[in-house]
Amino acid sequence: THTLHIVGGGLAGSEAAWQAAEAGIDVVIHEMRPQVGTFAHKTGDLAEMVCSNSFRSDDSDNNAVGLLHWEMRQAGGLIMAMGDAHRLPAGGALAVDREAFSAAVTERLHAHPRVTIKHGEITALPEDGHWIIATGPLTSSALGQAIAAETGSDALAFFDAIAPIVHADTIDMDVAWAQSRYDKGETEDERRAYLNCPMTKDEYEGFIDALLAADKTEFHEGETAGYFDGCLPIEVMAERGRETLRFGPMKPIGLTNAHKPDQKPYAVVQLRRDNKLGTLYNIVGFQTKMKYGAQTEVFKTIPGLQDAAFARLGGIHRNTFLNSPTLLDEQMRLRSRPHIRFAGQITGVEGYVESAAMGLLAARLAVAELRGQSLPPVPPTTAIGALVTHITGGAEAKSFQPMNVNFGLFPPLPEAKSGRRGRRERYPAYTARAKEDWQGWLQAGALAPA
Ligand code: FAD
Repeated sequence: THTLHIVGGGLAGSEAAWQAAEAGIDVVIHEMRPQVGTFAHKTGDLAEMVCSNSFRSDDSDNNAVGLLHWEMRQAGGLIMAMGDAHRLPAGGALAVDREAFSAAVTERLHAHPRVTIKHGEITALPEDGHWIIATGPLTSSALGQAIAAETGSDALAFFDAIAPIVHADTIDMDVAWAQSRYDKGETEDERRAYLNCPMTKDEYEGFIDALLAADKTEFHEGETAGYFDGCLPIEVMAERGRETLRFGPMKPIGLTNAHKPDQKPYAVVQLRRDNKLGTLYNIVGFQTKMKYGAQTEVFKTIPGLQDAAFARLGGIHRNTFLNSPTLLDEQMRLRSRPHIRFAGQITGVEGYVESAAMGLLAARLAVAELRGQSLPPVPPTTAIGALVTHITGGAEAKSFQPMNVNFGLFPPLPEAKSGRRGRRERYPAYTARAKEDWQGWLQAGALAPA
């Protein structure tokens, strides 16, 4: 049959349905609400925004999420069109009237001759047909269990534990040094997978004080499941005892400060390479529920990170997501059952816009497959391409955690174009390259209506 089934009518599923239907494919959306709810959703509408009402920056020349807006608009995206139609004044950000927005998305899909909306929970993985699963961070527990049974429980997480991620070129390598603990690792590349920031006793004590004093966010009602050992927030570890971190993620053993070989650091903050490009590093063991402002303040007191720019800050949330680098192919298909694609937040992207963008792409790939058409690979220089490349293989699988779009995911610019300019001054060159490449891809992979 030539019907595309989409499980979940959220941000990703709604966009996916629209893209496929506009390309002339019959679509069935399976949405469990309002019969089955989640702790965050309040309505039975499609594309409900569960928390903030912002799509973040709309600046497509200097901001990666703004660029994502632009790419989705170019592709005729429904989420962006309805966001624009129900825009609220918010300076450079795209804030939307959430109720009018969801109602409009629901209405447009409902009215589309190729779209059928079926309400009811899907509890098992489909055996055949063409499917996109876009059930989001709050995937129902029956389906979550069915997915885990297929992928293995190690490859499906129910909570994220996000440590802050730093742009590599903002780490001060006159202070930090590359070394893995006990010089473990076979190859030079493996030994250089870690960067280390040293602390004296005074710096450590000051850091603990700052952690204890920092503002923290609370779990949403209904979200809690207790912390599990192994991924406690650092501030909770610090609360358990001032020395806990020094014997945990900040232990200085097995490391020698290359800049001061005769001075033993009192504590060490380690950063681990986060992507194959080597442009991003995560701070090992530093998952946290500190507020964003507090995180930037506290983490910049770490020697070597005084000028750090963060590609994303830490967090811990209820979040069902796949270990996509091991489970999905570059076409977003489940390797073990290629008739099923995944899209949206469950693939390990984070945010309304990122989720919708992955819905847009998954649908286009599915449509091409249904038609026997082969699309050229999505250029990794575009925002959508950078995201999908990251989740399906660019990210380090072992430490894979949800990612929002940022310029650290983009292949660096050729030296001639980046020159000696500062990071922010390079952004327009990234976005100009992305826009050209995205236009090219849309033209080359045009999905003419059947
Ligand atoms: P969703 O929009 O959640 O859509 C998934 C859909 O699948 C839902 O409609 C659900 O009812 C349905 N579904 C689930 N299981 C089944 C099933 N078995 N059968 C049929 N249907 C099913 N992002 C931001 O950018 N800003 C924020 O402020 C923000 N706040 C968040 C707050 C919370 C509490 C949570 C959980 C997430 C938040 N996010 C936020 C993250 C994320 O961007 C949104 O959750 C976004 O909606 C994800 O899009 P999605 O389409 O992947 O999932």
